[in-house]
Amino acid sequence: MEAEQKRNALKTYFGYDTFRPGQEEIIDQILSGRDVLAVMPTGAGKSICYQLPALLLPGTAIVVSPLISLMMDQVKALNEAGVHAAYINSSLSERQTARALELAKEGRYKLIYVAPERLETRRFLDFACHAQISMITVDEAHCISQWGQDFRPSYVRIRSFVRQLPLRPVVSAFTATATEKVRQDILTSLELVRPCETVAGFDRPNLYFEVQRARDKKERVRRYLAEHSRESGIIYCATRKAVDELYLWLENAGFSVGRYHAGMSADARRRSQEDFIYDRTRVIIATNAFGMGIDKSNVRFVLHYHMPQSMENYYQEAGRAGRDGEPAECILYYSPQDTMIGRLLLESRELDEEYTEEERRMIREQDAVRLRKMEGYCTTTGCLRAYILRYFGERAEDSCASCGNCMTEFEQMDATEAAADVVRCVRACGQRFGQSMIAGTLLGESTARIRDRGMDKSPVYGKQSKLGKARVQDVIRTMLERGYLCQSKDKYSLLRLTESSERLLEQTQPFCISYKREEEKAGRKTKASGAPGGRSDQVADLTEGQQALFEELRKTRMLLAGRKRIPPYMVASDKTLRDMCVRRPRSQEELLDVNGMGEKKVKQYGEAFLKVLLGYGP
Ligand code: ADP
Repeated sequence: MEAEQKRNALKTYFGYDTFRPGQEEIIDQILSGRDVLAVMPTGAGKSICYQLPALLLPGTAIVVSPLISLMMDQVKALNEAGVHAAYINSSLSERQTARALELAKEGRYKLIYVAPERLETRRFLDFACHAQISMITVDEAHCISQWGQDFRPSYVRIRSFVRQLPLRPVVSAFTATATEKVRQDILTSLELVRPCETVAGFDRPNLYFEVQRARDKKERVRRYLAEHSRESGIIYCATRKAVDELYLWLENAGFSVGRYHAGMSADARRRSQEDFIYDRTRVIIATNAFGMGIDKSNVRFVLHYHMPQSMENYYQEAGRAGRDGEPAECILYYSPQDTMIGRLLLESRELDEEYTEEERRMIREQDAVRLRKMEGYCTTTGCLRAYILRYFGERAEDSCASCGNCMTEFEQMDATEAAADVVRCVRACGQRFGQSMIAGTLLGESTARIRDRGMDKSPVYGKQSKLGKARVQDVIRTMLERGYLCQSKDKYSLLRLTESSERLLEQTQPFCISYKREEEKAGRKTKASGAPGGRSDQVADLTEGQQALFEELRKTRMLLAGRKRIPPYMVASDKTLRDMCVRRPRSQEELLDVNGMGEKKVKQYGEAFLKVLLGYGP
């Protein structure tokens, strides 16, 4: 396929001039007829990777997708862009389904989205066996794996559906979950043939990451919202109760907020979600039930009020910020209590009865490991971006120079003696205890737990009492990070020695740690201004005149969206409006140069936007 043709389609239908990293390669593979397994982080731009080939290949593409809201959103956006698409799921009546499949059979659609449990219905099979199917795409493909976090038994049946087709089309699978086991499961369960496996860059350079240790979380959040008063954002909490509390508190404080969790009625949830998407409320406070399939491009911040249960969860949720590629912030407010909440939530998680005892044990073990890695992210003084990338199996520089940690000057301390004492303590007790017992022993705490286990008789009891609790914990954390200690995989996380531990006893080289000083952080602004990726408001780098124009364009966008009953970002993203303010196009032709404006969009909305642009100053 000519490169020209792909670019034309990208510009015409989606309004973009260039592909993002990884996209073109995946598109080329699909177009050449090769199966694909693509692992891409949330927000990286998966949809275009299958939508564009679907447009260029003859016939209809079938997209299997797990969520009704996700399908509806995508189909709406595609039709907006001038692409004929439809969906088949339980939201349609019998008659609507029959009609859609009739049209599909006639080849009217370039894409048809379908829920997995509908694939093997007689009607759908009839369509699929008689129409020209250009390709099959499995979105959120990790749902096929029992090792993933969202296993869906109906996904397992995709394979048998594909087998029933008279001609096997090219099959592509997309997911944001990268673990080896899940990937392997996808390959075998979908019977991908000689697939091209790609892992697109997990880095999202426009996202700013920061962890703040905080006791006064509510106040921090309030301050943050006040400082970002014009921006849209999501605040994630670990429990429904916390969502309700924070919601009421912020609403009382006068902020434009909504809430979302599984304890609300379906109707209330839908309303909350729509208010947020249609920019009627600025901020939504939610549990992790919120967000799947929400492609709101102008989410400028994602705050975590509690630590999530895994890095997978965190990156997926944080990844909902800045989908338009513009700077956005992801801030996690951490307190050690979060770990306890996480543990409790995991322990209360009900596991499907289908699992064997052994499988249950393994799942629980994996949960505990994930939680620990998440805790590591919250406590590390190293580069946060590097931590994320390495977690997802990518290489990363030691410093990104732009995350919260890279921009903080940490205190340094020589902890050679303390580290040696930790090794002695772990060894003396036969590696039978976890962090708090070891730290408590070194600090000389006189608790019943310590006395009952005889740790007050340990040769190192009280030897590091001057150091204080926080620093002793920092020493242990750093030893874990650098591999001088490890933890047992069960939920007790017992401290164990490693091959390197002995080296610390020799004390031939200094063991230095860096740590955060809490008081300092509390007063610090969330971000140094002028830093890479930094900005306190979306339009801050526009001139005053441009900002006023931006507001006018925003109003027009709201009107256009209202008329068509679609969310404003589907008319044009914030990035597109900003680009208009900078370029000041004066004709339909010039509008085409604006980022995100394709032919179809110019045709539909060009006139309205031009009216504002031409009427605005010289
Ligand atoms: P996900 O990988 O989470 O499914 P999407 O496919 O929804 O991500 O894409 C995320 C956002 O990025 C969308 O707003 C989309 O329009 C935008 N996007 C995708 N590809 C490009 C591109 N080549 N140039 C600019 N924006 C893009």
